[in-house]
Amino acid sequence: MAKPESTPPPNFIRNIIDQDLKTNKHGGRVHTRFPPEPNGYLHIGHAKSICLNFGLAHDYKGPCNLRYDDTNPSKESTEYVESIKEDVRWLGFDWEDREFYASDYFDQLHQYAIQIIKDGKAYVCDLSAEEIREHRGTLTEPGNDSPYRDRSVEENLDLFERMRAGEFEDGSRVLRAKIDMASPNLNMRDPVMYRILHAEHHRTGNTWCIYPTYDFTHGQSDSIEGITHSICTLEFEDHRPLYDWFLDQLKVHHPQQIEFARLNLTYTVMSKRMLLELVEEGHVSGWDDPRMPTISGLRRRGYSPESIRNFCDRIGVAKRDSTVDIALLEHSVREDLNKQAPRVMAVLRPLRVVIDNYPEDRVEELDAFNNPEDPGMGVRKVPFSRVLYVERDDFREDPPKKFYRLAPGREVRLRYAYFVTCMDVVKDEKTGEVIELHCTYDPETRGGDAPDGRKVRATLHWVSASHSLPAEARLYDHLFTTTNPADEKDGSGFKSYLNPGSLETLTGCRVEPSLGGAPPGSRYQFERLGYFCVDPVDSSEGQLVFNRTVTLRDTWAKIEKAQAKVATVTEAPGQAKPAHPGKGTPAPGRPMEVEPIGEEISIDDFSKIDLRVGVVCEATTVEGSKKLIRLMVDIGEGRLRQIFAGILSAYPEPEKLIGKKVIVVANLKPRQMKFGLSEGMILSGGDADRLCTATFEGDPLPGDTVT
Ligand code: ATP
Ligand code: MG
Repeated sequence: MAKPESTPPPNFIRNIIDQDLKTNKHGGRVHTRFPPEPNGYLHIGHAKSICLNFGLAHDYKGPCNLRYDDTNPSKESTEYVESIKEDVRWLGFDWEDREFYASDYFDQLHQYAIQIIKDGKAYVCDLSAEEIREHRGTLTEPGNDSPYRDRSVEENLDLFERMRAGEFEDGSRVLRAKIDMASPNLNMRDPVMYRILHAEHHRTGNTWCIYPTYDFTHGQSDSIEGITHSICTLEFEDHRPLYDWFLDQLKVHHPQQIEFARLNLTYTVMSKRMLLELVEEGHVSGWDDPRMPTISGLRRRGYSPESIRNFCDRIGVAKRDSTVDIALLEHSVREDLNKQAPRVMAVLRPLRVVIDNYPEDRVEELDAFNNPEDPGMGVRKVPFSRVLYVERDDFREDPPKKFYRLAPGREVRLRYAYFVTCMDVVKDEKTGEVIELHCTYDPETRGGDAPDGRKVRATLHWVSASHSLPAEARLYDHLFTTTNPADEKDGSGFKSYLNPGSLETLTGCRVEPSLGGAPPGSRYQFERLGYFCVDPVDSSEGQLVFNRTVTLRDTWAKIEKAQAKVATVTEAPGQAKPAHPGKGTPAPGRPMEVEPIGEEISIDDFSKIDLRVGVVCEATTVEGSKKLIRLMVDIGEGRLRQIFAGILSAYPEPEKLIGKKVIVVANLKPRQMKFGLSEGMILSGGDADRLCTATFEGDPLPGDTVT
């Protein structure tokens, strides 16, 4: 029996598969597939599905197919087919020789349709699309039978054959399943199986003028390929009975469909229709515009495959729709690039600096670390000379309080070089703009330290004017100004939220000479500025173009810190009992003192905290820690969350917590601790002597929101 080689965190899908393996349901096989429709480029939501399907196959040592669900010729193309392959491969997955197309099954599907007609379970209907809709009924009212519902098998076979032969116009007839016009599930009210479409297909050309619907194709394609676990997003839950019905009629292999919640990200739209609109109307430069949530856009922006895979692991899979903060995606790439990206110096908005006491013809090659966090990445030489560039923002003629960088009379450190002091400021006579600084350097401070022990409060990056290379830098911000642009409830449409400042192009940047010949797509940290990659499309030897992948400032870490502060609950005096019986609420009548929080978060941030009821399923001590308990908590996601809580002093026998209901802060970024990943926090409070956790009994179910 296949078994995961490492132990990935459990989730409800793995639980189902484990169960199926135990009962030998599909002969012990696990076979998944990723089934894109080639009607657009893949986005980060698809990455979640790819990582899930290929990841499960890998862990259970089964195959995963790449299957194109290409049933709609008018919207599909080979450009999309090729881009999908490139993206899946780039993410690090391999479908080997299992590249399949639903269109390869058109003959088989046609045979299936005939079989269902012969069984008296399908009929040709002459109603128009509009009339079919009118007959369908509503959620509260049953539909009406089509007047063509009782055609004889012979007549249906004849009409279906003539549909196929091209005798009828588009839209004039369809083949429908004969199920139940009064079913509470609208998908079961005689759904369309085949429609007439005189359109050229990207693979089958003009062979067909009737095409199966997605609903009549998807389940059978899975069946034909011997898929065991057909994993799809929640919107297909209501289609499952229909897929089951088709498979039962046909008496063929029956995969198990399992639905999970699709990924939504803040400040992003994730529907291919909307993304296509952005491309077609020129709001972005193409599907691979670095502001797009597409895999090709993220790749061009400088995201590594590892960072995307890590992100997908982190968000996990759930049964409940939710929106992930885009800061978590940014955090993932920052974390990865921090390890991998060599550091270099680049000046985006150059200000010329002349070191007056430095010899005019001298050039020194100074040693610079490629990655201070990883000495193994070595050192490189950076040329230093009399005329340099520093960042315009690093000088203020009239420095405000706490501005420690360059200012008249001020001494600072130039990274890897010397201390310099600003002696004079040259301005443009007409505009008054600062155009040049004159400094002196202290030769004794070579390498960045003063032998007399004097300190400076700022270290600036710089490049040598004559050695540096010109470059363009593209600075990106969120494509939309609002967290959920697709939510069109005010009717203004998602495009009205486009961020006019989502791209700032800086020309005239200067980068250190080691970047000459940097390969397209290579990634760097520009010290103090952010992570950048060489634009694979527009950059060339003579004209370097860099995309800013992400800034160094980690907004996610900030959110997390603020949330951690807010989530501290202090016990009221005189209530020593750790377990608090209540009904649904954590601590009725109990004051909840909240620590003062930094000015960077507002009352809005409080409302973002997602408090959920959790049931403790496991609670154990943690080897090597005197404070921590490791909890496995069910918060209704179909998997358990691992949470490390510093509450051992209150629960010296942790197993007493098993079965208790606790309050979990569910939307914290998982934190990598020495002992493992901690995926949330449970509400506890107290002081040095007394600590307790808010636990309670009562009706609420795991995952219920606590207010
Ligand atoms: P869109 O709604 O963006 O047009 P789609 O669902 O029509 O996408 P498909 O090409 O059919 O796109 O998707 C291929 C697979 O990827 C499907 O199994 C689908 O469920 C999954 N998928 C699509 N979007 C997401 C998402 N946001 N999160 C997780 N999985 C997704
Ligand atoms: Mg789809």
